[in-house]
Order: sequence, then structure tokens, then C-alpha cells
Amino acid sequence: MKTSADVVVIGGGIMGASTAYHLAKRGATNVVVLESGEMFGLGSTGLNAGGIRYQFATAVNIELSKLSIGMMERFATEMDQQLGLRRCGYLFMLDRDEDLAQFRKNVAVQNKHGVPSEIVDAQQIGELAPEVNLDGIIGGSWCPRDGLVDPNGLLQGYVSNARRLGATLLTSTPATAIDVHGGRIQRVVTPAGSIETETVVIAAGPWSAAIGAMAGIDLPIQPIRRQIAVTDAIAGLRPDFPFVIDFSQSLYFHREGAGLLTGMSNNDEPPGFITTVDEDWKMHHLEHAMERLPLLGDAGIAAEWAGLYEVTPDDQPILGRLPGIDGLVCCAGFSGHGLMHGPAAGLLMAEEILDGRAHTIDIDALRWTRFETGASVGEYNVV
Ligand SMILES: Cc1cc2nc3c(=O)[nH]c(=O)nc-3n(C[C@H](O)[C@H](O)[C@H](O)COP(=O)(O)OP(=O)(O)OC[C@H]3O[C@@H](n4cnc5c(N)ncnc54)[C@H](O)[C@@H]3O)c2cc1C
Repeated sequence: MKTSADVVVIGGGIMGASTAYHLAKRGATNVVVLESGEMFGLGSTGLNAGGIRYQFATAVNIELSKLSIGMMERFATEMDQQLGLRRCGYLFMLDRDEDLAQFRKNVAVQNKHGVPSEIVDAQQIGELAPEVNLDGIIGGSWCPRDGLVDPNGLLQGYVSNARRLGATLLTSTPATAIDVHGGRIQRVVTPAGSIETETVVIAAGPWSAAIGAMAGIDLPIQPIRRQIAVTDAIAGLRPDFPFVIDFSQSLYFHREGAGLLTGMSNNDEPPGFITTVDEDWKMHHLEHAMERLPLLGDAGIAAEWAGLYEVTPDDQPILGRLPGIDGLVCCAGFSGHGLMHGPAAGLLMAEEILDGRAHTIDIDALRWTRFETGASVGEYNVV
């Protein structure tokens, strides 16, 4: 194992792999990624729903989506890795006046940033998704450019291309300590030995608070269980079935293979690292899913799993240099929408490290200091 590196990245999910790739692409190849798992992608990156969307409330998230999805469009050519990018569109369905009022504002911000989203009424929702039971739905929003990618393809593209460019990516190698002296990073400790370094990137997803604690920094990132079920093949399911979200219930569906993937967030789920399926919540979820999408009544469950969202107090990631310790950078806390922002986040972290400051997008709204200054602006479009 290397005994020194210019940058040590802790965590081999989409954030760590994308950061390593973008550093190496800029010529900074003396980079080591430490992943505790036996394979890359055993954390949230391998357990998510694969959704990509421009439909956010904050300008910075819309810009992160624009940058990331543009990179995904070029991925197959530039990275020699298929992504299965599908533009099925995201259809948000709303049943509360206050949500509709807020979504009108969100769509105005999206349009200002060049996103072709629109507010739709219940009749238009019925035309876009005739399979859905529209009881109580008063309107929604639709963007035909939103869609899906293969999460594993995205991750493996970054892992293999970071390695091709000269970065070192290790599995089964957890960071167990970070030595800090005089306000500067000295080294990262692993069971296989220590790596001297001046720069550490925290990219450990739901486990990031523990990594911050190793350096004496309090990162408000909590692991929250979220679960998914995928059905058997459903006869007659159309190929262009959209990504449908019943917003007030945090309930969603999209086509997965010849069946449907569905998830529903339990907003009373306590923080914790348990990733077994909660059987009670599963029954609640499937009951509500069948009410909203009656064709599910005839479908069997082919697969189910639970993973962890990495949630911050304002549902926004913590990006960039952390205060008080030179060389400590955070790329974590994406609060359930990180797969789609991984490409952009890695590029921005490479800029933050090599150029002193991220500049392709202004990330000031996402810096840790927002919690001290009270300048945090929450994301509304969280599922
Ligand atoms: C059910 C579910 C559905 C989701 N749906 C979507 C979606 O549709 N679209 C979307 O964009 N996002 C979605 N997300 C969120 C998305 O998966 C995450 O935001 C994203 O994967 C976070 O990536 P990460 O690299 O920060 O974390 P992770 O992928 O969790 O990677 C962190 C890595 O750090 C490693 N690690 C931990 N501790 C250490 C240590 N001490 N040393 C070394 N390595 C360590 C872990 O093993 C892990 O591999 C979903 C998440 C879940 C759970």
C-alpha cells in the first residue's frame, strides 16, 4: 500500500469515485481512495432508485443536475461505459394547495435555469399516466427530460477510469483514524498501514459523521433507512411509463426491467444503520402503492431491499473545505438525491482541491458554514 498521497478520499461510492476520477483527469494522480467494503457500491450508491431529475427547488441543485446530467449524456463516449440513460420524465402529483403553490415557484426557478418543466393539471396527469388513480390529486409538475440511469454503470465508469488515469482505489481498506496536528491533516490510518497526506476528502455517505469525528469535526449527517420493492414482470406495462411521485406520501414508481420499482419514505424512521427491510412499513407502503397504482394488485414482488439516505438538517449536501482543519474537504450528505449529483460533485471537489475553490458552480450555499451563519436554505423537492 502507498505510504503517502497528495489526496486520500475516504469512501468508494459515487462521491469518492467521481472525485478520484476528476482529480486524476486534471493530472493529480497521486490519489488513494479507501473503501471499507469488499466491493465498490455496497453503500447507498448500489441501493438507490436510479432517478435523475432537474426538478428541484433551489437554484444550486438545478445547476448540479444540469452539470451532472450533461456529463451522463457524454458518459458512454468519454468513459467507455454504458449508463442506460432513459428520459422517461418525472411526474410529481400533488394533493395539497400549499405544495402546488410551492411547485409553481419551483417550476419558475427551473424554467429560469433553462429546464423545460411545467405545471400540469389533473387531466394532463391522467393523460401522462392513465394507470394512476387520481383521487385527491389537484395538479403536479412534469419534466420530460428527467429520467433514469444505471447506478452501478455510473459508479463503475468512474472507478475504472480513475484507475486507468493512475489513481489508486482500494477495497477492504477502512480509514480508522485521521491524525491532525496544529490544525493540519497529517495522515490517515488503516489496518494495512498509514498514509501521509495533507488532504482528505470525506465521501463516506451515511457514515460521514464518523469520519468527521475522527478529525474532530461535527458533521450533521444522519443515516435514515429507505426501502424499495421491485415487482415481477407486468404484462402490458408500457416502455415509457414515467417516474411517478405522489409527493405528500413520499411514494414513487418507475419502470424497472419488465416490472415496476416502488419506494415510500417513512418520515418517522429514526436515524440508524439498520438495513433490513421493515416488514410493517413494507405492508403500509404496498397498500398505499396499490391504492395509487391499482395494476400493482396483480404483481408479485421479485426483489426488495433497504438502504440509507445520508440526511442533513436542510436536505442539502455539505460540500467543500471544512473550517478549522487545513486540507479537510467534505463531499457528503446528499439527503437521498446524491447519485444524480455525483458527477458534478466530483468535478467540483477536484476544483476545490486543485484550484483552491470550486468554480464551475458556486457552492457557497452548500458549505458547512451555513449551519453557523444560519444561512441554510432547505430543498423542498425531497422524496
Ligand atoms: C432507497 C434509496 C433510493 C435512492 N434513490 C435515489 C435516486 O433515485 N436518485 C439519486 O440521485 N439518489 C438516490 N438515492 C441517494 C443516493 O444513493 C446517495 O445520495 C448516494 O449514493 C450517496 O453516495 P455516497 O458516495 O455519498 O455514499 P455511499 O454510496 O454510501 O458511499 C460511501 C462509502 O463509504 C464507505 N465507508 C464508510 N465508512 C468508511 C471508512 N471508515 N473507510 C472507508 N470507507 C468507508 C462505505 O462502505 C460506502 O461504500 C437513494 C438512496 C436510497 C437509500
